[in-house]
Amino acid sequence: MLNPESNIKFIKGVGEKRAEMFYNLGIFDVDALIHFFPRKYEDWTKTKTVAEVENGENITIKATMITPVKEHMIRRGMTLYKCRFSDGESVINVTIFNNKYLAQALRVYEDYVLFGKIEKTFTTASMSSPKIEKLDTGVRIHPIYSTTGKLTSNAIAKVIKTALESLDEIPETLSDDIRKKYDLISLDSAIRQIHFPENEEEASKARKRLIFEELLTLQLGLLKLKSNKKNETPLKITKDFTSEFTSLLPFKLTNAQQRAIDECIKDMQGKYPMNRLLQGDVGSGKTAVGAGIIYTAVKNGYQTALMTPTEILATQHFESLSKMLDGKGITIRLLTGSTKPKEKREIKADLIDGKIDLLIGTHALIQNDVEFSNLGLVITDEQHRFGVKQRANLASKGQGIHTLVMSATPIPRTLGLILYGDLDISILDELPPGRQTIRTDVVDSSYHERLYKFIRDAVDRGEQCYIICPMVEENEDSLDIKSAEQLAEGLSETAFKGYNLGLLHGKMKAKEKDNVMKAFSNGDVQILVATTVIEVGVDVPNATIMVVENAERFGLSQLHQLRGRIGRGSKKSFCVLVSDSKSEISRSRLMTMKRYSDGFKIADEDLKQRGPGDFFGERQHGLPKLKIADMLEDIDILHLAQNCAGDILKEDYNLDLEKNKHLCDAITKMFRNIEY
Ligand code: ADP
Ligand code: MG
Repeated sequence: MLNPESNIKFIKGVGEKRAEMFYNLGIFDVDALIHFFPRKYEDWTKTKTVAEVENGENITIKATMITPVKEHMIRRGMTLYKCRFSDGESVINVTIFNNKYLAQALRVYEDYVLFGKIEKTFTTASMSSPKIEKLDTGVRIHPIYSTTGKLTSNAIAKVIKTALESLDEIPETLSDDIRKKYDLISLDSAIRQIHFPENEEEASKARKRLIFEELLTLQLGLLKLKSNKKNETPLKITKDFTSEFTSLLPFKLTNAQQRAIDECIKDMQGKYPMNRLLQGDVGSGKTAVGAGIIYTAVKNGYQTALMTPTEILATQHFESLSKMLDGKGITIRLLTGSTKPKEKREIKADLIDGKIDLLIGTHALIQNDVEFSNLGLVITDEQHRFGVKQRANLASKGQGIHTLVMSATPIPRTLGLILYGDLDISILDELPPGRQTIRTDVVDSSYHERLYKFIRDAVDRGEQCYIICPMVEENEDSLDIKSAEQLAEGLSETAFKGYNLGLLHGKMKAKEKDNVMKAFSNGDVQILVATTVIEVGVDVPNATIMVVENAERFGLSQLHQLRGRIGRGSKKSFCVLVSDSKSEISRSRLMTMKRYSDGFKIADEDLKQRGPGDFFGERQHGLPKLKIADMLEDIDILHLAQNCAGDILKEDYNLDLEKNKHLCDAITKMFRNIEY
């Protein structure tokens, strides 16, 4: 008898060699094996006769073998096996390629079931390499597994079948209440039926049960992460200074900004530390929200830190926040890699002395280098997606520190539920008034001359322009794709001779990048040729044109981020996406950019067109890998699971109850490879 922990080499028919193949798939024990779910099914239950089908159809046919197998050696390594079958009315010529094992197992006058594509002419019917099984066992729904190397789907199915036959009932993980409420079959039935369903209904019930369980486990795990951070905080805000703050601003906060600030301050007045995400499209005014809560935190006697992914961004935040807050009794300092050692020492000393109210710098610096005397609030400006893991590191600077993460990447709401399951969320769904819409066009490279003239005219009027090139890998030899360096060099001698061109790319030193960015910022550089390094939230309101070369190489969300660099001032702005791609998909993706300006809409489209891979690239977010659930397809079940997770934690906050033990184990298992 097997149990779930048994090594798979103890399954009948699995020797060392075959076991090794499973190990390569990451499958070591029986439990992992039975959780290796089919990728899809082939339904062999609806059999037809040759007469009933069209040429080229995929069919399942019950047929008797009527001639013995004839072997034809075509050349070395290529043997054909030919024989004939009859479905009672028609003869089917069957050819099998190279599969000696199958050819030798076939017996004349036995009944089989054939699965595959049929080729018909007026007089003949034939099948090339159909799948063939004995009639008495073959007419069923066949599971199809993802295979690697020599391990065929059939072989996997056989091993799983044997394992399931010698396993006792698989212990239930969900309580009767939950199963009843959400109409879920038992785990034992679900596992057996997901591999070997009698019909479609069984398969779909099994899927529902397993998807529910997986999403429930994920959701519970994330909620527990969130609650783990819920140690009470001593750092309480007693007075809200927001109205004083808003009176300092040259503009009126949007309703969304006001709401977000209120939500943050309410958090910081509560028992637990704030742990919140501020999501807002480019230009929605996240900085002012950050400034607002920094203001209140400082006025309540706390130090604050604002962390950014890059130096450029830190410098920009320093400048804009200084404008907003300087001289209002708030001391702000900037700490970057280029800060001189002497000044750095001063800053560190002043921080410990409590003389600095707001420190702005890059993540790495603030997290590793400095000590505060009374840090109460950390804000991170992320610009990109970020991981659960990084977030957990944030508050490592002290007990109960309030954290706000600002993200400019619109995530479709449904995915946000999972990715940010451990955070409270505020959304800026409103842009400040008077924003120009950016005109976006998609053109091919025959427009370059016209485009360059358009740019020269704008620059002559005193405006500025970005030309963005895709990052070119060193080993990539695509003749039609110019690197930023090549392009800048060429243009400075041709179309833009006599103009000031700047170049910005990823391989430059931080200091060099900084200098170029500054020169662009103060107008010395008129045309900036850059790779996506400018994607981070730089703000040059005088830049009104953005040209993106080889636009088909960018993700939609990335294009949206890029485009957010223009249209920041009062002048009309233009984004021109240049692409010679003939592909229908590329074109329609780029047209999405022309059609929509709302980042959330674009993210939704991106998701529809490219699938969730981009959002759920494991590396990016650090979430556990899912075996069966699909974030998009299974959104309805996700909602149920979220509901259920809430109920469970309401009753048993720490999952101490005996009935929740299995779930607790499942969470540990799912999250075991993820550090927090
Ligand atoms: P993002 O959300 O992309 O970080 P920023 O915070 O950089 O946006 O704001 C973009 C621009 O909008 C800035 O120049 C800022 O001064 C301006 N801004 C922010 N809030 C308002 C508002 N309520 N009214 C007018 N302008 C605003
Ligand atoms: Mg910003």
